[in-house]
Amino acid sequence: MDEFEQLKNEIPSCTLCDLCKTRTHVVFGEGNRHAPIMCIGEGPGYYEDMQGRPFVGKSGILLDKIFAACGFTRQEHIFIGNIVKCRPPGNRDPQPEERAACLPYLLKQIEWIDPKIIILLGATALKGLVDPNARITQVRGTWLELQGRLVMPTYHPSALLRNPALKREAWEDFKHVIDKYRELIDPKHFCAYH
Ligand code: SF4
Repeated sequence: MDEFEQLKNEIPSCTLCDLCKTRTHVVFGEGNRHAPIMCIGEGPGYYEDMQGRPFVGKSGILLDKIFAACGFTRQEHIFIGNIVKCRPPGNRDPQPEERAACLPYLLKQIEWIDPKIIILLGATALKGLVDPNARITQVRGTWLELQGRLVMPTYHPSALLRNPALKREAWEDFKHVIDKYRELIDPKHFCAYH
């Protein structure tokens, strides 16, 4: 068993922060263990906590539609995770100490999966991984860097559900990802819409 699988087995018993007291399941993340793209959100919501899987509620359905429009699947192209792996009660933002406790797990996952491209979904992922002072409205759609990897910040799908007018901008962000994927990984990548 490699380190990745070992962590997956051990993490359900993690008690490093108080979110362990109210969670139903730890959401380790899922997708291709060697995905060229990692997608990182904020934290599990109600349905994710119930099922132990990332992005399975309304936001996840929308995200899968966006992936499909890009010609990406969770199984082949993507690994999805979150800044914290246990649900903050009432879907509140994760507290700084909760993010700090959980971040080493995510950094290990990034190291082991070794993606070429990281998509950050929303402000919490952006602030937690790149810059605590960054604003998603200002940097979305521009390539950033994290430990030598390309990072594309964009809106969290829940923001797109609350404000559908943002979908146009989000699609522009994902088109940058498609272009970069063709440039770095597969020049023949097929996408019906771009
Ligand atoms: S959120 Fe992360 S650090 Fe906190 S208990 Fe869950 S797995 Fe452990």
